[in-house]
This record gives sequence, structure tokens and C-alpha cells, in this order.
Amino acid sequence: MNELYVGIDDTDSPEGMCTTYITFVIINELKDFGFEIASYPRLIRLNPFARFKTRGNGAVSFKLIVDSQLKKDEAKKIILDAVKNLSEMDNENTNPGVVFYEAKSINGQMVMDNRLPVFATRAIKEILTIKEAEKLAKDVNAEIHQFKKGRGIIGALAAIGCYLRDSTFELLAYRLPENYGSARKINPESVVHMDEITYPQTFDNLDEGYMAIEPHTPCPILYGIRGESPEAVLEAHNLVESLEPIEGYFIFETNQHTDMHLQKISKISDMKQFACYIINGVVKDNPRVIEGGHIFFTLEDSSGEIECAAYEPTKRFRNIVKKLIPGDKVEIYGGIGTQETLNIEKIRIMGLAPLFKEENPLCDCGKRMKSAGAGKGFKCIKCGNKLRDGQKLRIEIQRDINEGFYEVPPSARRHLSKQLIRMAKKSHDCIY
Ligand code: ATP
Repeated sequence: MNELYVGIDDTDSPEGMCTTYITFVIINELKDFGFEIASYPRLIRLNPFARFKTRGNGAVSFKLIVDSQLKKDEAKKIILDAVKNLSEMDNENTNPGVVFYEAKSINGQMVMDNRLPVFATRAIKEILTIKEAEKLAKDVNAEIHQFKKGRGIIGALAAIGCYLRDSTFELLAYRLPENYGSARKINPESVVHMDEITYPQTFDNLDEGYMAIEPHTPCPILYGIRGESPEAVLEAHNLVESLEPIEGYFIFETNQHTDMHLQKISKISDMKQFACYIINGVVKDNPRVIEGGHIFFTLEDSSGEIECAAYEPTKRFRNIVKKLIPGDKVEIYGGIGTQETLNIEKIRIMGLAPLFKEENPLCDCGKRMKSAGAGKGFKCIKCGNKLRDGQKLRIEIQRDINEGFYEVPPSARRHLSKQLIRMAKKSHDCIY
């Protein structure tokens, strides 16, 4: 028996389609022709700052069990025909890539070339070129198929190579093609009920009462339910009442919500644009709110400083950021995008600086004194007492935030960002 890894990426555009849907069509067809798919197909999210991404920079891979060269060729034809026919080829930025890769048998064990997982980690944390992907494919003997510019081979190779030490699952329900682009019809109460029953085994189902499972693009997806296991997302799917027919659903294993994109780094000066980090520092200035409701503050350490941002879509999370003051010790989880600010995904407040208010001194009679004019001290308006050399009193006041972790709401969460509810859990190995 031979294992054939298949990677697919860059088939969609903002106007439509979705690489997961093409994979759903392909796998159903392969199954109809008697092919066996090993385990769950995988949806791998790559660098959120990749320039040519359509939405969430996702690529897909799966593993086929094939017993002859003839069957292998038959499977490849089914896959390549589907990508050619279903991809949004007319869009300038759609440049599909398909990769086939066979692991080598070493001492009876199928082993993947180590350069593939290394490349996948880089595709999640850095920006790569098509040339690098072509070179890797040559080095590891992977077969690549590039449509148009074929940029999709970057994601396709990374989706094959990505090693999942921690993973989650997403069930995607697909609409009938005649409904694409129209308002989605899902019973919201059924989603509330589903969340009550399945959370935290499923997560990010609702956001302040709104259905977070529903995309807002013309893509084929009716809803996506994310959770810890295939069983959990399936149970949740069975509780959701869809008011329009679905073509079918598919469960993907994924690196979503694993924080795989973050690099722990010790110096602000070592941070680079288009990468995501965990960085410790001290708040340098008071947070500033600008037009549009975006909030910024400066984070500093002994190596330098960086502007941190909580943009308007992070909604109530901004109420936490607003309460920071100079001297607060924080750990920021986030990435540096086109604006060159560190976009906060999560914040851990590690130490709160003391906050003081200033008050005029009290008179012997018990009344609070008033200023007697600039440089003239204080006077009591009740008994006329004067305090020429008096100083304002500095009184420490209670901060109205606590140390600990805070996160953006589901609607503003990056696909890769690990929810606090998951952070308490031990990461687990997965079978692939
Ligand atoms: P969707 O999530 O809707 O499937 P998308 O956001 O995944 O769409 P794609 O259409 O797949 O966007 O386009 C992303 C492109 O960027 C692909 O060609 C992919 O190969 C490439 N890419 C992915 N990661 C990187 C990276 N780290 N550096 C450079 N290019 C990348």
C-alpha cells in the first residue's frame, strides 16, 4: 500500500469558491471511485500577513491510500480536473497549486522528508516565495502542478508538511450552489441552544448573541463549527437547524486556535513586519483613542519600543486596553501587519503600576482646603486657616482591572489564535 499526500491551495477569490469546498467535491468523487482517504483532511492556516491571501490564508491537504500506479494516476487526474474546473481562474489573484508527495518507507515506516515540516513552519511564520517552494518540491521529490502563476504550491506544500502537535476540528456545511451569495438561513435560536449544550467542546459559536458560525462572504460555506474533536463538532452540527438545504458537510482537522503562528521573542528590536509574536514589555504612555475608535499605546523594553493597537473590530476588548497606564507590565500576543503596529490578539497583564490621584490637604477643621492661588498654598473656606507651604497629597487608588489574560472577541479573532478557554488545556499529539 502506498500513501499519496495531496496539497491544494489558492483556488478561490473574494467573489466566490473555497479550497475546502473543492476538497469536499474531490474527496467525494474519489470515494465514489473506491479510493480510501486516511484520517481527516486538514485545513492548515498559514501566515495571516501573506500578501496574496483571499481571506484567512488556509490551504488543504489529505492523504490517499493507493495500491497501484494506475490508481495513483486515476486519482491525480480526478484532483487536477476538479481544481482546473472549479477554481476562480478569471481572478488575477487566483493562482492554484496542487502538490502530490509520497513519503518514503524506512524500516517499514512511512517517513516524510523533514524539510517539509520545516517549510510549513516557515510558511506560518514568515513570507516565502514561489521559487523557494519550487526548490523544496525538487529537493523532496514532490510533484507540483501550477495553474497560472501557481503561487498555491507554497500553501499546498505547507499543508502537506505541517506537523500538528496540537489541533482542533472544524465542520463546514456547504450550501447548494443556487443559494451562493444570498442571505444565509440558519435558525439563530438553534445556534444558542447548540452552544449551551456543546461549549467549550465547541467554541466561537456566538459573539454577543450573534451567530459567529456564519461567514459573511459569497463563498459556498453555510456555517463552520469549531471544536476540540470530530465528535463535538458533529454533535453541534446535529443541533443546528438549517433553514435552507445543505449540499453536505465535511470535517477538517486544523491548526486553527493553536497559536502556531506566534514566536516567543525577548527583544522588541528583534521583531519584524509580517510576523506574529509573544513579547513582554512595559506600557510607556497612556492609551490614545483615535477617530474610528482604534486604540494605541507604546510598549517598551530595554531594546526599543513598538506601537500596539486594538482596532475598532476588537470591540469590548478595547475597554481593557484603555485602562492600561504607564508602568504596567504586559505580555502581548499579536502580529505586525501593513500598518507596522503590533495588532493585539491577547494580552496578559503581569503587573499593574500603582495609580495615584492628587488631592488638596485637609484642614484641622476637617474640611478639604482650596488652592490659595498659584504658589500661595492652600486655604480653608470654612475657618480661614492658611497653609502656605502645603503640598498636594498623592493618594493611591484602586485600579479597575486585574492581572491576568484578556482576549479579543470571536468576531475579531485570527483563525490561528488560541482562545483562553483552550490555553488551559494540555496540547496533544495528533495522528496524521
Ligand atoms: P481562503 O482562506 O478563502 O481559502 P486564502 O485566504 O487561503 O483563501 P488563497 O487564495 O489561498 O487565500 O491565497 C493565499 C496565497 O498565498 C496562496 O497562493 C498561498 O500559496 C500563498 N501563501 C501562503 N502562505 C504564504 C507565505 N507564508 N508566504 C508567501 N505566500 C504564502
